[in-house]
Amino acid sequence: MLSERLEKVERRIETALRRVGRTRSEITLVAVTKKFSADVIREAYAQGLRCFGENYVQEFEAKCPHLVDLTGAEYHLIGHLQSNKARPAAELFQVIETVDSEKLAGRLDQTGRPLEVMIEVKLSHEGTKAGAEPETLSPLIDAIRSCANLRLTGLMTMPPWSDDPEVTRPYFRRLAELARKHGLPKLSMGMSHDLEAAIEEGATHIRIGTALFGPRRRD
Ligand SMILES: *Cc1c(COP(=O)(O)O)cnc(C)c1O
Repeated sequence: MLSERLEKVERRIETALRRVGRTRSEITLVAVTKKFSADVIREAYAQGLRCFGENYVQEFEAKCPHLVDLTGAEYHLIGHLQSNKARPAAELFQVIETVDSEKLAGRLDQTGRPLEVMIEVKLSHEGTKAGAEPETLSPLIDAIRSCANLRLTGLMTMPPWSDDPEVTRPYFRRLAELARKHGLPKLSMGMSHDLEAAIEEGATHIRIGTALFGPRRRD
């Protein structure tokens, strides 16, 4: 049941927060609903969740018409975005967490929609190919800050997968250092299995799918 899973996740969040003396209001729980139907989003909304993460523009485009009455819900794109999908993405999402190039930032800016954006940072050469290299962050940040319609608020990362949160922790720490260096307040990091380590290292946004909704269908 979603309500029980949500309670469990909330307890984990509280335990991690207590260890480092942070408060619940510093954390946004982003409910990751990729591969789940609009009904699942509606159920989560009924449980009080307001922030949702989706990975695919087309998939969310299909769900969107079923969500128009969910006042105050906020949708984050957390999957890789190709420049040619910038326009639909800007129309569907309030926050794009995965900006990783000046070209993409430019395309999003050109849509004329005011958008909050984060930069996805690639901290390892294993696994995902998406994300900006840490060395290219400074010019990318400057470029985004010069876009009239984009408000850059933070960094996001997806470390190489490990079931051991202690293996992932150094990536979280590194992202926090980069955000501090560049004066960016938000940090989107941590998923179902490692949210505690992420919170301890300074996450402001944790992206939780499986722990809330159970296993996703494979395809
Ligand atoms: C799917 C996904 C998540 C959620 O992962 P879970 O392990 O199911 O919590 C978080 N972030 C991104 C970028 C994802 O693609």
